[in-house]
Amino acid sequence: MKTIAVLGAGYAGMRAAKKLAHANLDARIILVNRNPYHYEATQLHQVAAGTKEPADVTFDIRKAVSPRIEVLIDTVTGIDQDKRQVGLGKHEPLRYDYLINALGFESETFGIKGAEENGWPLVDIDTALAARRRLENTLANYRNSHDPNDLHVVVCGAGFTSIEYLGELVYRMPKLVAKYDLPADQVKIICVEASPKILPMFSQNLVDWAVNYLKKKGVEFHTSTAITEVRPGAVVSNDQEFRANTIIWTTGVRGSHIIADSGYNQKRNRVVVEDDLSLTDHPEEFLIGDVSAVPDPESGRLFPTTAQISIAQADTAAANVIARVQGRQTQRFRFKSIGTVCSLGPQAGVAEIDMMGKWKLKGAVVGIVKKIVNDRSVLELANVKTMLESN
Ligand code: NAD
Repeated sequence: MKTIAVLGAGYAGMRAAKKLAHANLDARIILVNRNPYHYEATQLHQVAAGTKEPADVTFDIRKAVSPRIEVLIDTVTGIDQDKRQVGLGKHEPLRYDYLINALGFESETFGIKGAEENGWPLVDIDTALAARRRLENTLANYRNSHDPNDLHVVVCGAGFTSIEYLGELVYRMPKLVAKYDLPADQVKIICVEASPKILPMFSQNLVDWAVNYLKKKGVEFHTSTAITEVRPGAVVSNDQEFRANTIIWTTGVRGSHIIADSGYNQKRNRVVVEDDLSLTDHPEEFLIGDVSAVPDPESGRLFPTTAQISIAQADTAAANVIARVQGRQTQRFRFKSIGTVCSLGPQAGVAEIDMMGKWKLKGAVVGIVKKIVNDRSVLELANVKTMLESN
């Protein structure tokens, strides 16, 4: 009997396992993940801001997948492509005939001095909770310290994660100010972005709306300001310094370090794959999600690393593994975006939807759209029961 290993139970891995289970193959399907739970990476910013609890954005993998899937809770330590073997922290190495690698992302520091030591990334439940504790403890500390930097937060980068985090933060901050009895007029929220443009994937009027919304709630934006160093209590951009005792590091992501550690030909731990998402020299191996670099023939660039695209890649990779097992031709990856949603807290946001015409949305209605997107995502990865339980 053939063994199909799926590494990682993020969006890509969960979806691939679900699709493989439905195929009724005469094969052993093993899903390996470090934690017994899946987390919704697109909602980590809410855990970090304290507007959602970990239980709201996680679900038990074993309860969510088909009993046909063997779930192995362990940490992948390496992949031996020639031996077709996955190294594991606690178990014996796992031999496979087919591999779907969906090991996901880590925080990217671009080698910026002090970023790792002094910035708080949002990459999983533990880091999101750590960032939340840092924020709350630092604000609470102001009553003893009277250090104005305890009331300052710097958010590094103005990509999706940063902007969505800022939206939650401005929503929660008045509650924290009241809770810790803080001087509201001295609270400062600063966003520092290297590029001149924020949220470049949205139309300018939506970007302007989002930026104005956040500015009105007190966020100070510094664009065209590349961070060159992070020190304890300060973010530095050449000769400018932004002082804050909470520094949120959301300047982008790279793939899992297991990719470089295992000797793959990679850039930022992403591996360029064939148009069917397999590797040229290892057609039994498929890479999807953040560890994969998939050229988009339409734009000539790589597809971005979004949850929506990861789920679509999982469908193609699973269909192609099934095709290989059954001796059929594989299919190439195709993707049609149904739109992009950027929430700004629970009551606002911007969205461009491409379904039954093009929709440009802003304001409270986006909160409803985001809820639909989140529910749909859980449904695509798990089942109706999990979706209802996570509401
Ligand atoms: P990102 O790459 O989208 O944004 C990072 C931002 O940090 C960029 O604007 C970049 O210019 C800036 N930056 C990088 N280095 C810098 C420096 N030295 N100084 C100042 N600014 C710097 O990363 P992300 O926000 O972590 O998102 C990761 C991926 O996940 C993206 O593909 C994103 O589209 C996706 N995502 C999507 C959603 C959504 O669809 N709602 C939500 C979260 C993340």
